[in-house]
Amino acid sequence: MTNPQQTKSNADFDAVVIGAGFSGMYMLHSLRDKLDLNVTLFEAGNGVGGTWYWNRYPGARCDSDSYIYCYTFDKNLLQEWNWSERYPEQDEILRYLEHCAERFDLKPDIQFGKRVVATTFDDQTTLWTVRTDKGDMVTSRYVIAAVGSLSTANVPPFKGLGSFKGKWYHTSQWPHEGVDFTAKRVGVIGTGATAVQAIPEIAQQAKHLTVFQRTPNFCVPARNGKVDPEITKARKADYSGVRERIKNSFFGFELNFIPKSVLQTTPEEREKEFDRMWDDGGFSFWLANYQDMFFSKEANDIIADYLKRKIRATVNDPVVAEKLIPKTYPYGTKRQPLDTNYFETFNKKNVLLVDASTDGPIEEITPNGIRAGGKEYPLDIIVIATGFDALTGPLKNLGIKGRGGKALIDEWESGPQTYLGLSVVGFPNLFMITGPQSPSVLSNMPVSIEQHVEWITECIGYMHRHKLTTIEATPRAQEQWVTHVAEIAGATLMPQANSWYMGANISGKPRQFLPYLCPEGLGGYRKKCAEIAERGYEGFVFDGVNRTETTESRAAE
Ligand code: NAP
Repeated sequence: MTNPQQTKSNADFDAVVIGAGFSGMYMLHSLRDKLDLNVTLFEAGNGVGGTWYWNRYPGARCDSDSYIYCYTFDKNLLQEWNWSERYPEQDEILRYLEHCAERFDLKPDIQFGKRVVATTFDDQTTLWTVRTDKGDMVTSRYVIAAVGSLSTANVPPFKGLGSFKGKWYHTSQWPHEGVDFTAKRVGVIGTGATAVQAIPEIAQQAKHLTVFQRTPNFCVPARNGKVDPEITKARKADYSGVRERIKNSFFGFELNFIPKSVLQTTPEEREKEFDRMWDDGGFSFWLANYQDMFFSKEANDIIADYLKRKIRATVNDPVVAEKLIPKTYPYGTKRQPLDTNYFETFNKKNVLLVDASTDGPIEEITPNGIRAGGKEYPLDIIVIATGFDALTGPLKNLGIKGRGGKALIDEWESGPQTYLGLSVVGFPNLFMITGPQSPSVLSNMPVSIEQHVEWITECIGYMHRHKLTTIEATPRAQEQWVTHVAEIAGATLMPQANSWYMGANISGKPRQFLPYLCPEGLGGYRKKCAEIAERGYEGFVFDGVNRTETTESRAAE
């Protein structure tokens, strides 16, 4: 414990953390137990878990391998926890996070059932005031938004939704008691990663399932199952190695691109590699494919063709198979869903696919079901799997007002602008964990979360040691970062998809690539952030003074 000098202010808290998912829990633990700060955490839910508290839809499980979808900062925790499967189910991850909350004694400092509605900076006192929907009002030196990247539900304004006589549910606001689909006619809207998990499960229980697809998805088998105990033993014995490898990897997995262009391979050679990745399951097909996949349309087409052939080979009805084959965007430019019997589900007699481009789009929700392409599909339950207002939505909901009363929502009207995805000009002492323009959703989240939490902890520790009151990104650093993030994305195929990465799923949202695809991968981004800190927090000003420029100009003198 470093126990730096506490902030000399009249604030109620040194830090307010918002959100008790993976990021907020570790942030609370770090600030309170490593820096000895006075911290409170507001959480809208009635328990810890974030994503894993809210997303309880059938089939919900993690798409990252369990041995790396966890905290790695505590060696003992890594040894004591045992995952039951390759990809843990939602309730198992929630049990894990509950265990962590108990283990690190976090709950006494978490205020559950309180949603932050206003977060205001006071230019005079340089403190933040945080207000909740339950009437709380506290002041704090620092605010850390640990609100997740995919936590603001997107419920499209379907005409007639209110008139529906049955029940409807958004997958991320699922009832804790579950939903019984027995003998019901169910409609699922959406075919993203969530729906791909839910559809096979619902089809097993429901009398009839109608899937309303707007854009088909390339899916790769998850290949879930028990992990060989010998593999688990070897991983546990080498967790420090695993930790180093994922920290310095491209996407936070033990995966690396094939260092070759697919265009330089023979059909036989690449087919063998594709088969290997397909058989491995998980993200290797997406994140460890030939290195030009995200850059060359010609290369991408070859890789996509393999997946299209798989769909044709799996789906019995060739007309349905064609509807399920993506044709309008390059492979990998939308988040890769992992599936367990997804395409096979469309061979079932009780499952019908309604495709927007061939059968007609959803026109309205009627009292009895959904009307699409001029036809009404009668339903008892509608499952809305339409995703999230990704990355910016959760931050905009915090009612953040910075210097001079400037609202974050206005500053970001034409798209988010951040420095490193951690900080925003005009919003001193406000940090975002896995914010827009950081690798965040392009990585195995716990790896990015740990990196941000540790960087923020170091930064606040540094401020305390140097008796500094405020930190804030400079306009120049932010501008350069925003340009850099856009340039990198522009050199890839990513902007060619109408994905949530591009903000394209939300009507009216500016079209802008939201996460940061670091050319040197997650390890490169980590290094960049560390070097910035080593250089005295280059691109930031403390108490209105640019210390790095002062140091540089002194050195020049
Ligand atoms: P999503 O990927 O945004 O998919 C939403 C689906 O709803 C898409 O098929 C979309 O079609 C459709 N849709 C949206 N608005 C619509 C409208 N107005 N009318 C008709 N269809 C509409 O959301 P998601 O499936 O919830 O997944 C979001 C992200 O959460 C994932 O990409 C992933 O990062 C994360 N996730 C992770 C896991 C995991 O690790 N286990 C599981 C689930 C989700 P378009 O494609 O045309 O927009």
